[in-house]
Amino acid sequence: MDLRDSPEDAAFRAEARAWLEANLTGEFADARGLGRAGLQHEGRELRMAWERHLGMQGWTCVGWPVEYGGRGAPMSQQVIWNEEYVRADAPARVNVMGEGLLGPTLIAYGTDDQKRRFLNPIRWGTQLWCQGYSEPDAGSDLANVQTKAVLEHGQWVITGQKVWTSYAQWSDWCFVLCRTDPESTRHHGLSYILVPMDQAGVEVRPIRQLTGTSEFNEVFFDRARTDSDLVVGEVDDGWRVALATLAFERGVGILGDIVGFRRELDHILDLARKNGRGANPVLRKRLADAWIRLFILRLNTLRSLTGVDGPVAPPQASISKLFWATWHRDLGELAMDVLGSDALVGAALPYELTDPQRIFLFSRADTIYGGSNQIQRNIIGERVLGLPPEPKVPVAAKVAPAS
Ligand SMILES: Cc1cc2nc3c(=O)[nH]c(=O)nc-3n(C[C@H](O)[C@H](O)[C@H](O)COP(=O)(O)OP(=O)(O)OC[C@H]3O[C@@H](n4cnc5c(N)ncnc54)[C@H](O)[C@@H]3O)c2cc1C
Repeated sequence: MDLRDSPEDAAFRAEARAWLEANLTGEFADARGLGRAGLQHEGRELRMAWERHLGMQGWTCVGWPVEYGGRGAPMSQQVIWNEEYVRADAPARVNVMGEGLLGPTLIAYGTDDQKRRFLNPIRWGTQLWCQGYSEPDAGSDLANVQTKAVLEHGQWVITGQKVWTSYAQWSDWCFVLCRTDPESTRHHGLSYILVPMDQAGVEVRPIRQLTGTSEFNEVFFDRARTDSDLVVGEVDDGWRVALATLAFERGVGILGDIVGFRRELDHILDLARKNGRGANPVLRKRLADAWIRLFILRLNTLRSLTGVDGPVAPPQASISKLFWATWHRDLGELAMDVLGSDALVGAALPYELTDPQRIFLFSRADTIYGGSNQIQRNIIGERVLGLPPEPKVPVAAKVAPAS
């Protein structure tokens, strides 16, 4: 595998780098570094303005086909854009769900009307989306979705509760997985429905996280309404569409994250050099291990994306997710150990965290969202190692108290 940029990719990298340098100036100079994990509320207005600026200049949705307003950038250039974006310390993107999840799903499964109506506002950064999949009893076991939708007078009427809905408090629309066949069970009889958030039947309640901030929310649908033609794919066939969306989750973006991880690791190495704890033999080994594993992560991610023109295939995607999520969680723990007792002191009262504390607390979430570590291990066990399928535990046994 040749990891050097081809002449076309090198030219693209230079163009992307120059554009970011020239544009993260003036009103956007203050946007640098805003909105990292655990700080998603930071600088919303400025970041929204930046998002629209990116959209107007053709720097959102770079991987979308040209006919839908993207650049049709090959995988290598999508990776480069993500790397350069993070390297420039540009602010965290605000429409990750629209650009990365719903857009590609609509391109694959949407009607012409749905594409006409939604793709441009996503691309221009003027319409924000959230993902309404998880429910109190349907997280890892997503097929247990209970939120229901019924057709009444030409509209879907939606009732139920979603949870952990990232960015719902800022979103204009939500793609909601609903049960449309009341007789159905499991993954049958579900539909993938687009629902406007700004209406009386939708209530969003932010959930306070370990970091003290609220990225995700509970979302209550109480006879919320949406038009009958806003089902993506066929009615009752939403499971297929929902899985397609999941496959788009965290594709090339991870290469940008790796640049950010490297920055975090460099900061922790710097702390270890300065406070002398880098002399501790156990910490030295863990720091070196972190550096080596990050290098492996980058190489393996590049390998998994080589020759791929869409989402990464499931077993490879699971290996990658398990690896980077565990790496990042371990880095948070390492950061605390490098700081020693200083790790207990925040940046300011009442709840302002230092960067290492924020990494430590937020990275717990990495091993949960997008499929928990345990679920990724199940997939690897069954699909890569050919182990027998995990035993199905009856629901009653799951809730029985331990004797
Ligand atoms: C930061 C963050 C953002 C999120 N954003 C969104 C969002 O925008 N939209 C959305 O719909 N959801 C979102 N989620 C929800 C996420 O998809 C779920 O948290 C995840 O699927 C796990 O579901 P759960 O929390 O219900 O845990 P559960 O499924 O109840 O699992 C609890 C524990 O049991 C383990 N477990 C469960 N089943 C098995 C099994 N079969 N074998 C072994 N172990 C098992 C899990 O690994 C976990 O440790 C987000 C989560 C986080 C942390």
